Amino acid sequence: MTKQEPSPISSVFRLARSSATLGGEPSPEIALKQRIQRISALKQIILRDREYIMDRIQAETGKCRTDALMSEIFPVLDHLAYLEKKAPKILKGRVVWPTLALLGKKSRVYLEPMGVTLIISPWNYPFYQAIVPCTSAFIVGNSVIYKPSEHTPLKGLIEELLVKAEFEKGAIQVVYGDGAFATKLIEQRPDKIFFTGSVGTGKKIMAQAALNLIPVELELGGKDPMIVFEDANLKRAVAGAVWGALTNSGQSCTSVERIYVQETIYPEFKRLLLEEIGKVKQSIDADGDSDVGHMTTDFQVKTVAEQVRQAQSAGARLLTGTDWDFKSKTIPPLVLENVNDTMQIITEETFGPVLPLITFKNEHDAVTKANNSRFALSASVWTKDPERAYRVTRHLVTGNVSVNNVMLTEANPGLPFGGSKESGFGRYKGEFGLYAFSNIKSVLFDKDSPKIEANWFPYTREKYMLFTDMMVALFSGGVENLLK
Ligand code: NAD
Repeated sequence: MTKQEPSPISSVFRLARSSATLGGEPSPEIALKQRIQRISALKQIILRDREYIMDRIQAETGKCRTDALMSEIFPVLDHLAYLEKKAPKILKGRVVWPTLALLGKKSRVYLEPMGVTLIISPWNYPFYQAIVPCTSAFIVGNSVIYKPSEHTPLKGLIEELLVKAEFEKGAIQVVYGDGAFATKLIEQRPDKIFFTGSVGTGKKIMAQAALNLIPVELELGGKDPMIVFEDANLKRAVAGAVWGALTNSGQSCTSVERIYVQETIYPEFKRLLLEEIGKVKQSIDADGDSDVGHMTTDFQVKTVAEQVRQAQSAGARLLTGTDWDFKSKTIPPLVLENVNDTMQIITEETFGPVLPLITFKNEHDAVTKANNSRFALSASVWTKDPERAYRVTRHLVTGNVSVNNVMLTEANPGLPFGGSKESGFGRYKGEFGLYAFSNIKSVLFDKDSPKIEANWFPYTREKYMLFTDMMVALFSGGVENLLK
């Protein structure tokens, strides 16, 4: 009988399991130091090889050059710089002060690796969605198995950069395949799954992960509202709407997908918006002189076409892009008015260069309309009034809100990112993001002593009375009362 060859999946997992920390180092601090060195090297290599990386990204996604630079390369470098600077302190853990009852004992929290992290990513930001989660998991000490989308795999690119940055073999492995392949990876019981993608796939992954109680983090779709109040600087709000809805051809989980404008300023807002839309340059350029590229996949073009047609048949009016054939990947910016919240263009994620306009009467109406969605990823609020901005940001049910700006929480690598409702749960990036990839371990240190604890056996009537008196004194009048 010939010996059976191990399947590639099981050998990938075997290597990952043996690489979960940089083994052999005398202390966790030294291992972390080495991981930081890899992160620093990777940052320098990406900075140096950026033009080549952008060529690869553009070839697979059809995005314009500046989108590749500003939403794939720049934020990745910013994230790596954040890890370089902040991870050592965050991962050192911290002291937690004891309560009065535990006086004399020391408590600490440590962030430790979970083991093998499986990262499954979508196609819209293939470089960012590879490097940011993979390095977040890696820096904690996990080993990573990364599966890119089958639509934008950037085959070989991530491995090439990791080798140049001298990452240990097995620290981050890249595997290629579709959804069926991803289910086989989950069958291997990784210790954590970090998923970015659609709501439907997120539900399937969670159901499969539940069979083995694998912790999952779900970063799912969005239908982000933009709320423009009558006191906002209209030129800025309009420019923000155009960029927020059209960057990456609208194929961003946090792109502006619903524009709510106070009815008193609607005519002027619309006039300025159409003027700005008329200036947008669209092509897959090589020199940075284009605003919007093309759609990445044909199936996404179909989704946009179906939603726009459905809205039109229900009474929506297309104000721009009327010459689009509903097939071409070069979808022009599509501004729609006379839209309502029964249309798919408002209820479903669109993921295309579409700007549906809806009016609102007052603050309450705006918040109610914005919250009327099963998605809750991100939002933006535009007003001069800081108190109103504060109220509205607090009343919106969402994971992220920018005030007088758009998609900007994501630009701060120290801010946690994630959604609520069907946009998912869990947070990554920043300090909270490192918790997502950590086994958070609590340790309490006590002295070695011949004395036993008062609350251990034997229980007696006297002890019971003493505990009761202590408890009443402590919780009715605080420390001073107890001391008295
Ligand atoms: P998708 O859900 O179709 O696919 C995402 C990944 O999941 C791919 O790698 C795919 O191969 C894999 N997959 C498919 N079926 C699977 C299964 N049954 N089990 C395991 N893995 C499976 O999503 P997409 O079309 O690639 O990406 C677009 C979606 O991603 C949008 O909804 C967008 O909003 C969302 N997204 C969210 C964020 C965020 O941070 N919240 C960021 C970017 C994109």
